Amino acid sequence: MGEWRSSPGSVGVKRYFDRVKFPRPNEKSGPLAGHVKKGRTYRPALAATGVLRIGDWVRDDLPDLLWPVLILSELGTAEAVRFVRWQKAVQDDLTGKAEPRFIAECLDGRLASLDRLAAQVPEARAVVKARAKERGLLPESVANALASYPLRPAEWLVDREMTPPGQEEIDLLARAVLGVLKDGHREAVIKCLHIWSAVQAGTFTTSAETVELLQRYPADPRTRAKADSVVRALWGAQKGLLLHENKRHFADAIKWAKVFWGANSMTTRCMRRREVEADEHDRKEGAMETPSDATSRGDAAAPGAPPERGAHLRQLAMDLLTSYVEALEMSPARLYDREPQEVHSGLVARAGRDVITALGAPDLWCMEHGAHIIRALVEVRIYLQWMAQQDPSIYRAFQAYGAGKAKLYAQIMDELSEEARRPDFEEAIKDLKKLSRNDEVLDYRVVDTRDSFADGKSIREMAKECGLIDLYRQAYYMASGVAHSEWWSIETHAMERCLNVLHGGHLIPSLSLNSGGNVELASSWVDQLEEGTSTDEAE
Ligand SMILES: [Zn+2]
Repeated sequence: MGEWRSSPGSVGVKRYFDRVKFPRPNEKSGPLAGHVKKGRTYRPALAATGVLRIGDWVRDDLPDLLWPVLILSELGTAEAVRFVRWQKAVQDDLTGKAEPRFIAECLDGRLASLDRLAAQVPEARAVVKARAKERGLLPESVANALASYPLRPAEWLVDREMTPPGQEEIDLLARAVLGVLKDGHREAVIKCLHIWSAVQAGTFTTSAETVELLQRYPADPRTRAKADSVVRALWGAQKGLLLHENKRHFADAIKWAKVFWGANSMTTRCMRRREVEADEHDRKEGAMETPSDATSRGDAAAPGAPPERGAHLRQLAMDLLTSYVEALEMSPARLYDREPQEVHSGLVARAGRDVITALGAPDLWCMEHGAHIIRALVEVRIYLQWMAQQDPSIYRAFQAYGAGKAKLYAQIMDELSEEARRPDFEEAIKDLKKLSRNDEVLDYRVVDTRDSFADGKSIREMAKECGLIDLYRQAYYMASGVAHSEWWSIETHAMERCLNVLHGGHLIPSLSLNSGGNVELASSWVDQLEEGTSTDEAE
């Protein structure tokens, strides 16, 4: 193989990273220690440089590298040497037609690069093609697979019209894509093509250590794994450098990638795990899989019926709430300053009713559908504990805040035009007006639209002040993420990965319902409720 040059310090890639400033982490403790904090966002130091671009090479680059991806699948990874010889032959044929560095860069295995070469050196088309044929780099099967895509770069590489793929082409494409995804060595060999081309053109420079490693690549089995990693890293860095020099360097490649994935989505269907794994069931296409379907496969208990270990939970919760209410009734009620007791018992009752209802439906015994129960329980606990530490007028403020909201909702409903109102609509407005506890003549009800009844103080702030911040962080925070449809929660609960490798691993909505039935989770609700209904706290 050509000429390896070592020149530490003169590497473009290194130059590029030398210019990057690494901000110093200013978050010193807690779960995000080591991050760079700015306002309310925390970024890892590397992300804070602003140059980090997490690339998705499969999505953006694999289509452009489809030719070597297909060839190595058909001929085996070791046959990459044919590309290396092809590079040499093309470089020799085109000597003097363009800058050696430019020619070398265009022979990196990318289709878009071949077009870039042909645009500047028209005779390159014939040379590239002839040299590839000589070395068996355009076998029938690969040419057919390539020709099954419209609008691809370097269409001239194969002598045939675009023809939609048959099963044979689809199978080869799927095999090739899966092959390179599963085989880090094959990926590295493909990503090494740009290095081999530059080496043969005499335009490659890197550190002595890297030269040492790459000279024996991929033949030396002892250093192969290490070299694979170095090659993949260099490839990413090289990409960063090219982008740094020209923001549009990969524009054509990405345009083509969009066509590639779009074409795949039209020629092949999504594949779900359950379709792949088990066809013992005759499921209707597109039908939702309910927990009972899962049950008949032995995955979970029957729907509606609680798992045996959790069967007692609902009764337990009802007993807790009942004895709480009875205890209240047995003790002398505070009828003059009634607000503390009203608010306290009201909040406990609200949470208890939620828990009892949820315990009657084991499908809800899971994070996906039960997050609101956790939120309600923790919220009530924080409210009560925080209010207990304030001036007792806080309970009146709590009720007044709610009354103000009822007034606001009534007024918003009142915006609806006369003809659009159904008969029960007036009733609903009347109810809300009553709940606003306003004077019918004298409008004195204040509407506070801040986040909470406590001058807008957040629940987190309250938790901090009353010693429940850990409960807030560990139970409420994440449950809120679920309730607010944060992406991680949607991803884990409602989506699944399409198993069609030609679809590049996108996420599709899951058709399996959560079977719930998590007895530990349901028990923890009852435990929380027990805290709230313990009589000493009710006082
Ligand atoms: Zn799909």
